[in-house]
Amino acid sequence: MSKIEWTDKTWNVITGCTQTSPACQNCYAKAMTNRLQGMAKKGIKGAEKYISGWDSVIFHTDMLGHIFNFKKYPSGCRVFVNSMSDTFHSEISDSHLKMLFNLMGARNDVTFQVLTKRHMRMYSFLIEFKELVTPNIWLGVTAENQAMVDERVDWLVYLKQEIKGFTDKDIKIFVSCEPLLENLNLSKYIDTLDWVIVGGEKAHKKGRIMEYEWVKDIYAQCQKTQTPFFFKQWGDCEKKIKLSMQGIDNDLLHKIENTKEFPMNQTFIRES
Ligand code: SF4
Repeated sequence: MSKIEWTDKTWNVITGCTQTSPACQNCYAKAMTNRLQGMAKKGIKGAEKYISGWDSVIFHTDMLGHIFNFKKYPSGCRVFVNSMSDTFHSEISDSHLKMLFNLMGARNDVTFQVLTKRHMRMYSFLIEFKELVTPNIWLGVTAENQAMVDERVDWLVYLKQEIKGFTDKDIKIFVSCEPLLENLNLSKYIDTLDWVIVGGEKAHKKGRIMEYEWVKDIYAQCQKTQTPFFFKQWGDCEKKIKLSMQGIDNDLLHKIENTKEFPMNQTFIRES
């Protein structure tokens, strides 16, 4: 099981990345890669692929076949692709991306969750190679502030519409508002989104604050349109925020914290 609540497994084919937006400030993958690089240098088994460290963006072709390990990735599971990097990083070639998407299409009994902060690369790649888009691949962007909503979510929604227009395929799109850094207005897009994830920042007690009002507002927007909403966690600010929540509606808080919805899963389950 993955520690990330909204997925079951991770499939890390890429190591290394570059920070690109405010959400990246306390990147978990960077800290973890540095730790794993240290382990790799000591010859600890399982950490080998991290030997080149954070600054080298490497596509590990030897990791591709792992997705056919049916014991590790059983039918019906959700797989977060490249949780330790960004699939659409500019240093990843189109031919490598094609390999990755071909394999995701081949494992159509699994749901793949591809989350990026490189929305333009995702858009241009998938518009050029539309045939690689399959319904078991959910495409998402991070939107930690309104500027990222206006830019990344806009392109994501446009991508969904274009794919539908060109291929008649319905794809699932999602937004991860983590770390949530300010109040977000998703109203322009909420009808088209299939899933919204909200979470605070965990960064060894350096996590930035996520206000209750911001979370409540996104929850209300999702409720209004019946868009699946997933509350992940408060992050490092939990204690501070809870202390400041005098006189709030505790039933509503409890409801929000326990809302862990998913888009309707259309993944085909392989017969054993
Ligand atoms: S894109 Fe993701 S993996 Fe890359 S630096 Fe930002 S948060 Fe970290």
